[in-house]
Amino acid sequence: MPVLVMKFGGTSVATPDRIRRAAKRVGVEVSKGYDVIVIVSAMAGKTNELVGWVNETSPLFDAREYDAVVSSGEAVTAGLMALTLQEMDVPARSWQGWQVPLRTTSAHSAARIEEIPTDNINAKFAEGMRVAVVAGFQGVSPEGRITTLGRGGSDTTAVAFAAAFGAERCDIYTDVDGVYTTDPRISSKARKLDKIAFEEMLELASLGAKVLQTRSVELAMRYNVRLRVLSSFEEQSDNAGTLVCAEEEIMESKIVSGIAYSRDEAKMTLISVADRPGIAAAIFVPLSEAGVNVDMIIQNIAEEGRTDMTFSCPTDQVKRAEKALHDAKQRGEINYHDLVADMDVAKVSAVGIGMRSQSGVAAKMFQTLSDEGVNIKVIATSEIKISVLIDRKYMELAVQALHDAFELEKAA
Ligand code: ADP
Ligand code: ASP
Ligand code: MG
Repeated sequence: MPVLVMKFGGTSVATPDRIRRAAKRVGVEVSKGYDVIVIVSAMAGKTNELVGWVNETSPLFDAREYDAVVSSGEAVTAGLMALTLQEMDVPARSWQGWQVPLRTTSAHSAARIEEIPTDNINAKFAEGMRVAVVAGFQGVSPEGRITTLGRGGSDTTAVAFAAAFGAERCDIYTDVDGVYTTDPRISSKARKLDKIAFEEMLELASLGAKVLQTRSVELAMRYNVRLRVLSSFEEQSDNAGTLVCAEEEIMESKIVSGIAYSRDEAKMTLISVADRPGIAAAIFVPLSEAGVNVDMIIQNIAEEGRTDMTFSCPTDQVKRAEKALHDAKQRGEINYHDLVADMDVAKVSAVGIGMRSQSGVAAKMFQTLSDEGVNIKVIATSEIKISVLIDRKYMELAVQALHDAFELEKAA
């Protein structure tokens, strides 16, 4: 029988009643003749609560135990979803990541999927089971310990299962009815896109649009998975939601197709480091070894042989970054007068494949922000995106102003 993957995010499984609503959708697909693999997230807010408990218990936690704790949210919803389906007379069984087993690397809290053997689940399908409910977000390391795939990782579980089982489609059910030109919670003018290219979705996701986890888009692109984002709260027609697909399938093309933002950025400045060959390596190698994901970097012009070095990283990695730099200073590898962390910043980015062939996007972006009186602290660009770091209090204003400036409320 053809296989379908259906993933339900946190708000879609937030209560037993919501789980019932989601299960009804699964029942509809089963009655159409599909064998269904359902991937579930933890109930809305659960993972944040678990992360909070870990931080409260151990600020520089052992990542193996972090994973032991935070993977538990999905364990609950997988069992509840299977029970709900059974109550509806749909033959269903739940799997935890390790039972599949969904094998990952041992990079705890940011593990990568290495292999999904299909035999266990396929054997059950052959016996008449119609729905395999799999706990999203979690896997098992080569050492046999529970791992997690990073925040939002259930999306990646879903796409990886779709690829492994050759699913006809991977449907991501969430609390919005598709991918928008920007977060509909920030701008009422945000417009739903019928289709978006893999490359653009990849950039939007990695720049903060959390509607899909970045890695899930990467996998869908690599394995050509038919990926749809749709609402679990609305009645669906067959072409509902947003299809994430190859560039060639898209007729509409604007220079900028979306605006993304991220609140979880911190700007760190090392004040007065020696300007000598090797200084960048002496700073960024220890950061990388401590697992800090450095994003934007600027090195100021040196004066009298000393310079300031600024970089951005996720806010929850600031403590790790401070410790790594402090330790490097203690070992005499670097010397700096002060280390200042600015947590009140946000990153706002414009994304579009049209930028490859059109110039002037950066100019328009900077002018728009200038007209709004927003000061730009750091800039980063790539082929299809421009990002700026600004004061967090201007974030919503900047997103709305850029959405207007690039006329994203209008279709191309
Ligand atoms: P789930 O729990 O279903 O995985 P998430 O909260 O992870 O849901 O992702 C959905 C959220 O992503 C939406 O509620 C929306 O606020 C946010 N979002 C950010 N950018 C976009 C965008 N461009 N299009 C749609 N949603 C977006
Ligand atoms: N529950 C996890 C999180 O909140 C994974 C997911 O929902 O995708 O990050
Ligand atoms: Mg999510």
